[in-house]
Amino acid sequence: MAVPLLDLTRQYEPLKKAFHKEIDRLCTSQRFILGPEVEAFEKEAAEALGVDHAIGVSSGTDALLIALMALDVGPGDQVIIPTFTFFATAGVVTRLGATPVFIDVDPVDYCLDLEQLRDRITAKTKAIIPVHLFGQAADMDAVMDAAGSVPVIEDCAQAWGATYNDRMVGGVGRMGAFSFFPSKNLGGFGDGGLVTTGDAELAAFLKEMRMHGQSGQYLHPHIGGNFRLHALQAAVLRVKLPHVQAWVDGRRANAQSYAKRFADAELLEMVQPPVMVDGRGHTFNQYVVRASRRDELRQYLVDRSIGAAVYYPLPLHLQPCFNSLGYKKGDLPVAEQASHEVLALPVFPELTDAELDEVVDAIASFYQKG
Ligand SMILES: *Cc1c(COP(=O)(O)O)cnc(C)c1O
Repeated sequence: MAVPLLDLTRQYEPLKKAFHKEIDRLCTSQRFILGPEVEAFEKEAAEALGVDHAIGVSSGTDALLIALMALDVGPGDQVIIPTFTFFATAGVVTRLGATPVFIDVDPVDYCLDLEQLRDRITAKTKAIIPVHLFGQAADMDAVMDAAGSVPVIEDCAQAWGATYNDRMVGGVGRMGAFSFFPSKNLGGFGDGGLVTTGDAELAAFLKEMRMHGQSGQYLHPHIGGNFRLHALQAAVLRVKLPHVQAWVDGRRANAQSYAKRFADAELLEMVQPPVMVDGRGHTFNQYVVRASRRDELRQYLVDRSIGAAVYYPLPLHLQPCFNSLGYKKGDLPVAEQASHEVLALPVFPELTDAELDEVVDAIASFYQKG
């Protein structure tokens, strides 16, 4: 039996009528640029996340970019980021002419290494971007403590609904950046993103920045860009929003189920499940294990049509485009080791017990073969 890494059609089918109704309503209105649909979504999103302000933007990447623009990050500035993350976290820093300062990650939660964070803050540090990787919240009290007066932008792209001491991520730092890429826990029918903040002045500025820095009609105090969330995406996201918590709960149940199955099959020496840290609610946007002989196992699963993927095979400090920054192999060893050991398995909420069995049975047979 084939088991896909992600099958969005299973989420779509039961909600199909609602999507079609809302899309039809929006098409009838012919209001596609911002307007009431985007405003309504922003209000509902802010409520769901427990933040004062939420600004819909064109993608998660643009959410990070516009957040850095709002802090006036530019040439000569440094932005501290973990090296083990999706490329966008670093790309936006470089696009503004600033320098990403890569630090290692913690081997347990895969979020930034707090000791290195404290060590690398200098007078040039303009921002810090902790990434709630795979849906696991970073240790935000410690991050905020280390940051002092340096603004923190949370990269929440994989972490809609993740909690830190009963607070939703995205509401702890100065700003939070979310992505609605279809494979995220709350995904649109295309690209979309969101910036959250508790600061009314920043929120107003972000709204100007997503409209070319315009403060009134054709009046531009700043240079922004076209970073608007499409109203069609807002309509789709409004249909999905009431279901996200149940989907996250489904992912958590599948994660627990895997842990039990791995233990029952005596696989824990070969396959280490992700660690659930006390006080932090993981959303399992990705269910990532550490596996011995990872590449062989991945091939074995893929050959049997079982979804398995590596996030991420090459840490950012070793990416060719950052050669000029002078990092070399061995500089950030925890992330480098993780990049050789991590493997993401199917965890989407609609997975059946039979599919979970299939994945675990295939893994067991791989290691039995030796
Ligand atoms: C997906 C993702 C982004 C970028 O979001 P897009 O909507 O694809 O632009 C940024 N950071 C992380 C950690 C992500 O996983």
